[in-house]
Amino acid sequence: METKCKICGEKISVPDDSMVGELLECGSCGMSYEISSINAGTVEIKPAENVGEDWGE
Ligand SMILES: [Zn+2]
Repeated sequence: METKCKICGEKISVPDDSMVGELLECGSCGMSYEISSINAGTVEIKPAENVGEDWGE
């Protein structure tokens, strides 16, 4: 799967076994994203504003 960076428009590859909530990083501009939803191979992302936050597991 893949998605597109909202900042620079570069494609970001997403592993097929990725889950909602996983973090992605744009290889072009370095922006961090969190996967907000996955639907039939379409990956929606949102900016990750809490990078480094403890997931509480
Ligand atoms: Zn980018």
